[in-house]
Amino acid sequence: MELGTSRVSDTRKAWIRYLTKYWLQPVLVLLALSPPLLTAGGAYHGLFWISLICLLTLLEILIPARPDWQESFNDKLMVLGLVWIANTFGELCEGFFEETLFPWLASLRESLGLDIWPSDWPLLLQVLLLFMGFELVNYWYHRGAHRWNWLWRASGHGTHHAFKHLTALNTMANHPLEALFLLLPLLVVGYMLGGADVALATGSLFVVTVFLAHSNLDLNSKIIGWFFTTNRYHIHHHSMVMEESNTNYGCACILWDRIFGTFSDADTEEAGIGKSQPSYAELFLMPFEEPSSSEIAPAPRVAAAAAD
Ligand SMILES: [Zn+2]
Repeated sequence: MELGTSRVSDTRKAWIRYLTKYWLQPVLVLLALSPPLLTAGGAYHGLFWISLICLLTLLEILIPARPDWQESFNDKLMVLGLVWIANTFGELCEGFFEETLFPWLASLRESLGLDIWPSDWPLLLQVLLLFMGFELVNYWYHRGAHRWNWLWRASGHGTHHAFKHLTALNTMANHPLEALFLLLPLLVVGYMLGGADVALATGSLFVVTVFLAHSNLDLNSKIIGWFFTTNRYHIHHHSMVMEESNTNYGCACILWDRIFGTFSDADTEEAGIGKSQPSYAELFLMPFEEPSSSEIAPAPRVAAAAAD
């Protein structure tokens, strides 16, 4: 009886694994681009994101791509704590900038005649344009953080890379300071170039892609991975091998890596900044002190010059 139950369960799991691998990302992308969600208010997007993280977490428990990456309850709590702190700080920063910096940038845009956003285009095209524009800014910030030690430190980007096991929840596990840098696309493309009005409509496409890019699920990268970042590519960026980590900077759109020559399609052995995962305290102190186990942080300029 137990054997029979197990067999049924295995067959179901095989179906769920198949549907997840080939259909999950395309269906979620289409859903994020569907007219009801594109025109929905913030509360509906929020509900969609919460449902999405619950679904992906459930799938990661049921059919993990790497069973050894399944986290203990304590590990999950640690990630959740970091997510909460980083998100709270990010929302405070965004709220402050919405009152101060963003209106000033909008008026500067008008006075400089930079009002070039094609607001008469169909909403879907504007969303795709904003998606690519945001990702272009993010690509260069992200590449810079892996190139210059001062930016790696100032943004606390190493904290996001420090986890040995990745899940969808790790998407938001950043150092609070990085929230300031993650607002750069909104600042440049949203307010300097005028695309801010479609930022909310673009939000779900971002969330779907970046959550999946960090997920511990077996996903197909063919066709969809030509334009969107898949977890095969992004987990490679999370490799603890520096040469591998210095590829695939696009967290949602992999096209810019293909264009700028940083794309890599290869297996990943191990994630993290080094052999061991830093403690919770070390994660917060990373802007000030790099853990001794770190192998992927860019070398400080003085040390790099001395080594040459
Ligand atoms: Zn990175």
